[in-house]
Amino acid sequence: MMQIQRPLNQIGFVYREIRQGLADIEAMFALLDQDPEIEDRPDAAPLAITGPVLRFEDVRFHYDSNRPILKGVSFEVPAGKTIAVVGPSGAGKSTISRLIYRFYDTIEGKITIDGQDLRDVTQKSLRAAIGMVPQDTVLFNDTIAYNIRYGRPDATDEDVRAAAQMAQIGDFIESLPQGYDTQVGERGLKLSGGEKQRVAIARTILKAPPILILDEATSALDTQTEQEIQTALDTVSKGRTTLVIAHRLSTVVNADEIIVLRDGQIAERGRHGDLIALDGLYAQMWNRQREAAEASERLAAAQNDP
Ligand code: ADP
Ligand code: MG
Repeated sequence: MMQIQRPLNQIGFVYREIRQGLADIEAMFALLDQDPEIEDRPDAAPLAITGPVLRFEDVRFHYDSNRPILKGVSFEVPAGKTIAVVGPSGAGKSTISRLIYRFYDTIEGKITIDGQDLRDVTQKSLRAAIGMVPQDTVLFNDTIAYNIRYGRPDATDEDVRAAAQMAQIGDFIESLPQGYDTQVGERGLKLSGGEKQRVAIARTILKAPPILILDEATSALDTQTEQEIQTALDTVSKGRTTLVIAHRLSTVVNADEIIVLRDGQIAERGRHGDLIALDGLYAQMWNRQREAAEASERLAAAQNDP
């Protein structure tokens, strides 16, 4: 038994490493068909959505038992509202998005959508209800059209083009000799981080799911493109239950609630104005980002005007 245990553990380890690297969770599930660790219960029912309201109730989670990552996190994303999660890197923000997609199960506490524990519903119905723009997108080795249409397989060419335009990637695609039929991925055209991110955003715009999770969805974009796409993302998230994980705080000032996660716990919460008035971690992060933005503006101005 011991002899076989070790290699099995190693396979598990390697598998987790690979899984971590492939951050496009949707693509990952499509490739592997489903996560071998998480299985539907025999009596799992399809998720029934009315709102939908997304709730975290005292959620605790770790990858390794000696290192807790989420230490009792509770919040609610009311139906159609936008809640933002911000905080230092390593705080556990992406872990929250992985738990919602049921990449992993909570260790303690629960996550519900319209009162249904995620562990009681089928993974297929759960993932059909969620649109996720991950931090790093891995595209399928297929055409650009396929990669966008994956969000809604029955979409027309016109719908695909409209979604690409909204995601500010349409003109780029049309400038390619083979347009939407261009092969991308390992054996095709290599897209930049920002281009891949825009393909993922187009896919999500096309899918138009009831629940949206944007995990630093615009982090690979320059400020100008980010502002343009932000408008498109604001349009899709309007009326949809949205969780935004943000690095650049300028994108969350209008959120219905901002949750500041530090070291696996909610350190502060409230609207932008409240958190600025609180003068704590959020205010500190806000000031630091504003100073950095001003400094780069001054630098750009100096370069243009020697
Ligand atoms: P954030 O998105 O806030 O930067 P993450 O949720 O990605 O943070 O990660 C939180 C912590 O969990 C980090 O310290 C990270 O190294 C660790 N972590 C993330 N994924 C794994 C994993 N698969 N196995 C072990 N530790 C992990
Ligand atoms: Mg993250």
